[in-house]
Order: sequence, then structure tokens, then C-alpha cells
Amino acid sequence: MNKLPQPSDRAYVPFVSVENMMRLVHSIGLERMLVEMADYIEEDFRRWPLFDKTPRVAAHSPVGVIELMPTSDGEQYAFKYVNGHPTNTKSGLQTVTAFGLLADVATGYPTLLSEMTVLTAIRTAATSAMVAKHLAPKGARTMAMIGNGAQSEFQSLAMKAVVGIDTVRLYDIDRAATEKAARNLAGQGLTVVTCTTPEDAMEGAEIITTCTADKQYATILNDNMVGEGVHINAIGGDCPGKTELAPAILHRSSIFVEYPPQTRIEGEIQQLDEDHPVTELWQVILGEAEGRVSSRQITLFDSVGFAIEDFSALRYVRDRLEGTALFDQLDMLADPDDPRDLFGMLQRAKG
Ligand code: NAD
Repeated sequence: MNKLPQPSDRAYVPFVSVENMMRLVHSIGLERMLVEMADYIEEDFRRWPLFDKTPRVAAHSPVGVIELMPTSDGEQYAFKYVNGHPTNTKSGLQTVTAFGLLADVATGYPTLLSEMTVLTAIRTAATSAMVAKHLAPKGARTMAMIGNGAQSEFQSLAMKAVVGIDTVRLYDIDRAATEKAARNLAGQGLTVVTCTTPEDAMEGAEIITTCTADKQYATILNDNMVGEGVHINAIGGDCPGKTELAPAILHRSSIFVEYPPQTRIEGEIQQLDEDHPVTELWQVILGEAEGRVSSRQITLFDSVGFAIEDFSALRYVRDRLEGTALFDQLDMLADPDDPRDLFGMLQRAKG
């Protein structure tokens, strides 16, 4: 068993590789981890005003985006590096990859470096499910899953574990993606239905998740596809110029967002006037704003992914590492005997 570095041993930073992250997930159990991470995220949404918040810093190119997502609660600081490149899968690469770091605000020293590709899928699904727990119709059992790529199975299992759905109806423009998701979800306790049109996928669904990747204003859902009373969990519209829903749907919906200054730039609401009313989720969770108030209301989570969710995910991983061997110690920080003698340390390392 490795011990996490103590304050006297700060030169070493625990690093969680992709392989160790997968081991950690299996040692905890994916569904349990989704439930526990949803609790961590909800806990941090409850302390929302305490955090430093800024829209993420994005570097756009014609094919994708690279983003930095920082935040701090005054005691711990975190950032995530993440990309979004919808055409990557054509050359065998992921659309989204990420890594992140947690640090101690008091010293500025990192306390964890972690892969966050797997972790982002888990935290995004946990956030979606935590939000659906507050906004979806009570007793929701069926979810339409539009877009069956890397995030889709995580989204499906989080909605099962946290919200209690028992059926997922899959649709993707690429049939191979739907078949992959159906194979992966077999034996996971969900009834899985593969569909050949988005309309078919939405049949009887109380929750509609859109999780597609396309660097353009796409119309994954038309206004006439969406009936009263549903909860829409819109994941894939998360960049300027990249949306999934017809504007008419937004006008019929009560819209809930993470951090308005970021969502106005990146979310579905970039298609609306700047002053179109939206509700901040943390206020719903604290009971300071209304969530779902009627069975006919369409609730829309305009998800873009916010830094506090990554902060929660890293905090969760750090707590779960103690007593495991699921990390390496990275020699990442210089540690001269005399803190002012960096040069001497370098000289002594010669030859
Ligand atoms: P992916 O490339 O693995 O999968 C996307 C799937 O969408 C593909 O299978 C593709 O065939 C399908 N698709 C594209 N256009 C479609 C259409 N018109 N109808 C149906 N299916 C369509 O991507 P991923 O890693 O699963 O990510 C999905 C999206 O979620 C991306 O846009 C990503 O940026 C976004 N994302 C959001 C968050 C968040 O916090 N909101 C977090 C992670 C990823």
C-alpha cells in the first residue's frame, strides 16, 4: 500500500494514470462511484458562492478546441486541461481527452495529478444524473440516448444508479456506435432498445439526453419531436457555434445552467438573446429557486461542463486513493535542502 505524500514529503505528487483510474473504478464499482461522485458534486454546488469562478479559457481552431478550467474553494485549487475535437474519432483518437491537477492553496503545491478522460466521462454523467434527480419527472423510467459515443454508456448508467431509470433507447446516426453502446450496456441491469430514428428513441422517454459531437449548429432535436413534461439533458452543445437543439425548443423550456457567463458563450442558449431568463442550478439545489413546478413543463439542463464539477471529481479521487496502491509518486517538484539554493542542488546533481 502506498501512502499519499504527507506535508513533510511534498516533493512527490501522486499521479493517477489511465490504467490506475480504471483499477480505481473497478475497485469501487462504476455505479457506486457515479452515485458517490454525484454526492460530491452536489455538495460543491451547495457551496457554490464560495468558489472562484471564471468561464473556461478556450483556444479554438477550425477542427476543435483546447480549454483550461480553473477554480478554487479557498483551500484547494484545481484545473483541468481538456480538448474537444469531433473529427478525431476518424483517425482513431478520442473526441475528448483530459488531465487535471489539485493543489493546496496554502502552499501552492500540487496534491494530485490525474488522467481525466475516464474521469470526465464519469463526472459528466454524475452531474447529469444529479441534475435530473432534481428536475426530471418523478418516477422517470425511460431515457432516450441520442449520440452513442464515448460518454453514452456512462450517462445511461448514471441515470440508472442515481435517478432509477430502467430502460434506455439508443440512437446514433452511425449504426455502429449504437451497436457498440448496446453491447456495452448488455447485462448492466437496463433494458436496452436500439432505434433507427431519433423519433423512435424518444418514444415514451421522460428523459432525453443529447450527446452528439459536431462542430456546428446542428439540429439533433426539432421542436415537434419534444412533447410536454420531459427533461432534456443536453450535453453535446458546449462550444461557440456548436449546439444541438432547435431554438423553438429553448423557448418552450425552463432552462437550467451551471455558470451563466460560460453557458451564454458555449451552451444552447448562445442561440437566444443575452437576457433570456435562465436558472442557476445551485440555487435550485439550495431551494432558493424553483425547479420543476408542473408535470407539463419541459425542463432543460443546458450542460457545458463547469470547473467545479472537475474540482469535485479530483477531490473524490484524492479521498479514495488513501490506502490504495493506485498511484505513482511523481518527482515533479524541485526540493533543495535550502529552499533558496536551487542552483546548488543543480550543481550537486552534475556527473
Ligand atoms: P463521441 O465523438 O465519442 O460521440 C459522439 C457521437 O455522436 C458519435 O457516435 C456520432 O456518430 C454521434 N452523432 C453525431 N451527429 C449526430 C446526430 N445528428 N444524431 C445522432 N448522433 C450523432 O463524443 P463523446 O465523447 O461521447 O462526446 C459527446 C459530446 O459531449 C461532445 O460534443 C463533447 O464535446 C460533449 N461533452 C460535454 C460535456 C459536458 O460537460 N457538457 C462533457 C464531455 C463531453
